[in-house]
Amino acid sequence: MSYQLTLAHLYPEQMNIYGDRGNVITLQQRCAWRGIELHVTPLGVGDAIDWMACDLAFFGGGQDSGQALIAEDFLRRQGESLARAIEDGLALLAICGGYQLLGHYFLTHTGEKLPGVGVFDIHTVGGKKRLIGNIVVEANLTEAEPPVSKTRLVGFENHSGRTYHGPRVRPLGRVLLGHGDNGEDGCGGTVFRNSIGCYLHGSLLPKNPQLADHLLLLALRRRYGSSVTLPPLDDTLELQAQHAMVTRLLRHA
Ligand code: GLN
Repeated sequence: MSYQLTLAHLYPEQMNIYGDRGNVITLQQRCAWRGIELHVTPLGVGDAIDWMACDLAFFGGGQDSGQALIAEDFLRRQGESLARAIEDGLALLAICGGYQLLGHYFLTHTGEKLPGVGVFDIHTVGGKKRLIGNIVVEANLTEAEPPVSKTRLVGFENHSGRTYHGPRVRPLGRVLLGHGDNGEDGCGGTVFRNSIGCYLHGSLLPKNPQLADHLLLLALRRRYGSSVTLPPLDDTLELQAQHAMVTRLLRHA
């Protein structure tokens, strides 16, 4: 059986810093290696899409000015139908600025209130001091409680926003190194249904192939049924590099 998936890439023009586009390339390549067709649809200001026909979504980070350009369009044009698709199990990854706009709002450090679509029960407040550096999160990729399995994710963060969680979402994980969502409570990211948001640039997915495959498997199973499996790839080198980096970072923490 040949599988086909569709990925919506939200606002790639305005929301793509620190190589976040590499996440989409990673998903494309990991699909290609397995003979899965991944169609990428870029979504800009004014574009419409049928979210129920989408299997994956990616929303990268952006500067406050980039977020201001698209926040209103994102809320009005995509908000309701994207929220329905997320509730229905759309596999989504949002980084930093994109993550913030899935919450209720982002109050920037200059006092501008950017509306979010509110599908994640989080809100973000900008601070003067940016939270910058390497970050390691011990993550539970699903909402399951207690966690089914934990995995360490490594990345790089650079944000002024401090994100606080409400009761309707579960933190993606615990920060082992770095600032995480707000630099105060040790929360690193959010998981809600099959959607994940966090502050890890990197790009995140090339450095953490287990997360890339987690998203692909969720998308495939939602479309083609729960018995679908993902043929393994040889990630030995990447996983060794990831392990070495995490070990080195935690040793110097
Ligand atoms: N502009 C947002 C902030 O500074 C998001 C930054 C980012 O996406 N890296 O918090």
